[in-house]
Amino acid sequence: MTQRVAVVGGGLAGITAALRCADAGHRVTLLESRNTLGGLTHSFTRDGLDVDNGQHVFLRCCTSYLGLLRRLGVTGRVHLQPRLEIPVHSPKRRRPVWLRRNPLPAPLHLADSVLRYGPLGLGDRMRFAGAALALKSVDPAAPSSDRRTFGEWLQAHGQSPDAIRKLWDLVGIATLNAPAAKASLGLAATVFQVGLLTAADAADLGWATVPLRRLHGEPALAKLTEAGVDVRLGTKVTGLARAEGTWRIGADEPVEADHVVLAVPPPVAARLLPEGAVRLPPDFADGLGSSPIVNVHVVFDRKVTSAPFFAAVDSPVQWVFDRTASSGLTRGQYLAISLSAADEEIDLPVRVLRERMLPALLDLLPAARGAGVLDFFVTRERHATFAPAPGCAGLRPPARTRVPGLVLAGAWTATGWPATMEGAVRSGEAAAQAVPGTPAGVPGRPEGIPA
Ligand SMILES: Cc1cc2nc3c(=O)[nH]c(=O)nc-3n(C[C@H](O)[C@H](O)[C@H](O)COP(=O)(O)OP(=O)(O)OC[C@H]3O[C@@H](n4cnc5c(N)ncnc54)[C@H](O)[C@@H]3O)c2cc1C
Repeated sequence: MTQRVAVVGGGLAGITAALRCADAGHRVTLLESRNTLGGLTHSFTRDGLDVDNGQHVFLRCCTSYLGLLRRLGVTGRVHLQPRLEIPVHSPKRRRPVWLRRNPLPAPLHLADSVLRYGPLGLGDRMRFAGAALALKSVDPAAPSSDRRTFGEWLQAHGQSPDAIRKLWDLVGIATLNAPAAKASLGLAATVFQVGLLTAADAADLGWATVPLRRLHGEPALAKLTEAGVDVRLGTKVTGLARAEGTWRIGADEPVEADHVVLAVPPPVAARLLPEGAVRLPPDFADGLGSSPIVNVHVVFDRKVTSAPFFAAVDSPVQWVFDRTASSGLTRGQYLAISLSAADEEIDLPVRVLRERMLPALLDLLPAARGAGVLDFFVTRERHATFAPAPGCAGLRPPARTRVPGLVLAGAWTATGWPATMEGAVRSGEAAAQAVPGTPAGVPGRPEGIPA
């Protein structure tokens, strides 16, 4: 049952689909318009520093993503917390408060942390449990969950604006890339059910200890080549046509295939999909929209925090990550401030971001006040994810299209997950399984991830 498979797009979805198909014995060609693999997870060099386009984290429950890391042989290049532990800084408090899981099963594993969560008043802390338990029984796949905002649902379940901003959004903005007021209840329910309400260890946080290109793009190129995939970088696909059961993929050097996996962003898919291939309105890509992420990078002349990362409340800063070791910096400390749902920041000049973010960071980290700033720069991803707004579920197509031999992949397709690395890998797996002769993978708990 060897098939000729063309995979268009070399992000995590395309990499996964190509590896799965090659492992099943198919003849695979992967066409990627950029000169590197990894898609939205990429790195560049700036004055000798390895910089990522944006901080990426994953959770222990991202089993498909962890499976990809294993297949790429890079589990030694990530750190996965043995136990969820998030320091939360506020300019109003001298010391961070901790969101830590205890040894109890979910959802009791966070009960004592939430009850001690100082940024909220006692009433809000007490009312959190009721909403968390109610969220457990929301059906994420129900059309009614996709019609409603998470914010409206939280309010209806007794959550104050303070509780939403300082607790629910602390996690929600970073995982959904939207505040509760703009996020679909269905997607939020998925995130909180899978991450916080089902298995106690599901939300243990993981991150790369190397630049993203050394975690995804470069090892993927090596493993794909080793698996016999013909990887064509710098190859933009301009059209898809099918005649007599064979696909012709338009590029500088056209490719013929029995099956095509289209693993490109929504606007590119909308252009390349043959008419009527998906049961979606023609303007589905506009309907899905996008949500930006901005990273503000600060290099200090000395160490200003010993935390590998922390979150912030009562501050324009959201999450901060120590990038020193992964960037190759040998003197001082390099911190990246990750700003999700950054509609307000995406077009601000660097000067304005500096005036806003640097004092805010110093308010959170008194030790940084006397430190010199050696470098300050900004990375912007305008289309980091689709907008996880109400109604988005109806605009996300499944892997199988109505056209024989054409399947879709990408974090934006109907995975049930928000646009994440896990969603991208799951979509690649689903696309590969839609190619005849590709066996289903065996998703299991990852092993060999260093704690
Ligand atoms: C700054 C930032 C921070 C993020 N943080 C997190 C995080 O912490 N955790 C998390 O899980 N997720 C995070 N994400 C989301 C995650 O990176 C994406 O969901 C995931 O990488 C998407 O993978 P993909 O393969 O679906 O799409 P993409 O990565 O977009 O891949 C699509 C590929 O198709 C290629 N392509 C486009 N047009 C063509 C064409 N015509 N011909 C050939 N190739 C083409 C593109 O160049 C690209 O390589 C973040 C994203 C960003 C931008």
